[in-house]
Amino acid sequence: MIPGPVFVYSCPTCGNVITRGSLMSGNNFGSKIFSDGKSISPMLPEFPKLTKCKKCNSLFWLSNLKPIGTFYWSEIKNIEWVFADKAQFLEIDDYFNAIDKGIAKNKKEELYIRQQIWWGYNDNLRSGKKLFKDESDEQRWAENISKLKPLFDQSDSNQRIMLAEINRNLGDFETCIGIIESIDDEELNWVKEIIIDECKKKNKWLIELKDKTSPRGNLLK
Ligand SMILES: [Zn+2]
Repeated sequence: MIPGPVFVYSCPTCGNVITRGSLMSGNNFGSKIFSDGKSISPMLPEFPKLTKCKKCNSLFWLSNLKPIGTFYWSEIKNIEWVFADKAQFLEIDDYFNAIDKGIAKNKKEELYIRQQIWWGYNDNLRSGKKLFKDESDEQRWAENISKLKPLFDQSDSNQRIMLAEINRNLGDFETCIGIIESIDDEELNWVKEIIIDECKKKNKWLIELKDKTSPRGNLLK
C-alpha cells in the first residue's frame, strides 16, 4: 500500500483545517466483500467524500471543495496541518441530518448519502450488533431504502446487485431473484449464485460473499 498526498481543506463555515489522506496504490489482499456491495480492505483504505467539521458541526462535501494545500508524510512543511482534524466518515444520524438539510444537490449525491445510511445500518451487523435500536429506527431504515431504490443506475451491474439486495432485505425474494437473473456478467456469476441461494433460504439479511472457486478480489466496487 502506497499512500498518496494528504489533502488539506478549510471548513467553509469556520475555517477549521481538516485533512484527508489519499492512496497512490493499494491491493485487495485480505478484503471482505459483503452482499450490500461494501467491501472492507485493510490494504485499500477509503476516505470520506462528505464530512462534518468538529469545530462548528457543519456538514460539507470534501469532494466539492478545493484543497488549500497538500503534503506528504515524508516531507512535512506545516506542522499545524499534521495535527489538524482528520476527515471522518459520518454516523447514521449525521447522514440523515445531511438529507434533511438538503446537502444532496443531485441524484448522485443523494445516492451516496442514502447508500452510506444503508451501509451504516449493515455495519451494525458487521460488528456483531443488532441492526435496529428500536421500532422507530427500523422505520427510518425502511424509509431510507425505499428512497434509495430508485436512485440506482440500472445500467451498472454492481448497482443492480445492490437494488436486488435491498429487495432481499425487504423480504421480496422474487423481485431480488428476477433482478439477479437479469444481470448478464460472467464475472458476477458466483455472486449471483450466492444471493439466489440466500433467497431460497428466505434469508433477508447481510452476508459476506466468499467466492469458493477463486480468490478473486473486489468485484462489487
Ligand atoms: Zn467548521
